[in-house]
Amino acid sequence: MKKKLDMLEELQEVDQQIDALKEAQSGLEAELSGINQGVERVREEVALLEVNLTKLESEKAELESTHAAELENITRSESNMKEIKTNKEFQAVGREITAARKQVTDLEELLLQKISQIEESSTELAAKKSTCDELAENSAQRVAAKQAEIDAIQSKIDADIERRENVTKGMPASLVKKFTILREQRRGRALAIARDGYCMGCNMHLPPQLYNNLYKYEELLACPHCQRILILKLQQPQ
Ligand SMILES: [Zn+2]
Repeated sequence: MKKKLDMLEELQEVDQQIDALKEAQSGLEAELSGINQGVERVREEVALLEVNLTKLESEKAELESTHAAELENITRSESNMKEIKTNKEFQAVGREITAARKQVTDLEELLLQKISQIEESSTELAAKKSTCDELAENSAQRVAAKQAEIDAIQSKIDADIERRENVTKGMPASLVKKFTILREQRRGRALAIARDGYCMGCNMHLPPQLYNNLYKYEELLACPHCQRILILKLQQPQ
């Protein structure tokens, strides 16, 4: 019986170690995905700036083509003027030309604005790209370091799982099953230390007869309050 209890204790210890390792591992995995998300965010910002720049360029091209068309209209009107016979017609075409020249001036103003927007946007894009490259490089190193830590923990977990298998191999299957169910129900702890008449798992007083029976090591005894399997320990562990 004492041996069974020792095996249960070892099982609990290895399970808690696995739990702690898995927790550390998932913390690292969260950090890892945080790093990747940071890079992804800056990449998205770069892509948005690129879209914006493309849009400005195409607006500029459109202005340029309208500008060219207006200039052509003026040239055409000017050459038409030579063939005009009446004064009235002459004045009408003259007004058209004046309006078209005004239009050309306005378009040139808009073009200048567009060019300066494009310059601004290109500068911003170049800066964002260089930030992105730096971040990606820096993150790649951090990701590799985190991944190495995660892998190191995984090999410890694998070793613990092997150790757990060795422990459970020597135990009756029904006991392992009981332990596993209890562990799930009792927040990861299937065993509780009994000391000075108390269950240390739930801090409740144990019936004296039960507590005395623990000294006999005849059967597995459970706390009547929290149902954990009791292990007698007279001394505080050092
Ligand atoms: Zn208890």
